[in-house]
Amino acid sequence: MFKPPAPHISEITQKLRKEYKDFSHYNKKNPLDELVFILCSVKRSEKVYLNAYRTFKRAFPKYKMLADTPVRKVSQVIAWGGLQNQKAMAVKAIIKTLIKKFGKPTLAPLKKMSDEECEQFLSSLPGVGKKAARCVMLYSLERQVFPVDTHCWRIANRVGWNTKTHNSENCTAKNMDLLQELIPPPMRFSLHVNMISHGRKICTARSPKCNACVITCYCSKIGL
Ligand code: SF4
Repeated sequence: MFKPPAPHISEITQKLRKEYKDFSHYNKKNPLDELVFILCSVKRSEKVYLNAYRTFKRAFPKYKMLADTPVRKVSQVIAWGGLQNQKAMAVKAIIKTLIKKFGKPTLAPLKKMSDEECEQFLSSLPGVGKKAARCVMLYSLERQVFPVDTHCWRIANRVGWNTKTHNSENCTAKNMDLLQELIPPPMRFSLHVNMISHGRKICTARSPKCNACVITCYCSKIGL
């Protein structure tokens, strides 16, 4: 069924693209690199997770090295990235699953899968949710999906693209689907990366700088 796009979606996409120039936030072309990068970023600031990922890649330049490395050692390598035990266990379990499924640690076979198959497979991996799955698809598999991170969710609600289905501030899997449906596929990459830039610089969680905002005339400022 056809769903109308979100209000002012074209204008907002264009204004944000002009302002932030589709900066891709250091995301990776290789889908497995991207998945590890996203896991490193969970609940950490940009500076911290960029360094955690660099440290990890220096210690494990080949993913197959992880198969026989104890969780404790992997955890030590990414220790200062935070949540190291959960992340180390997830990465090791992912590598094990990929070797079992594809014969080696790779996500390359996903290039031949449909969007639905990709999302389903990625979301079935240990520690991988819908947002991480869609990040891998968007950045590394060139799929037109819309991952909803904290910045995208906050801005979408403030501008008035109402996809909240509950009173909580959390974005559920259903909310992510509803929001993605409101955004025409060709706009999804640009809008995602530029909403992250906008959320970090202007539409911050506390004290958003509405006076300096390039989309202020399209924004309903819900909740402010
Ligand atoms: S006008 Fe304010 S609330 Fe709306 S997007 Fe801009 S900074 Fe955010």
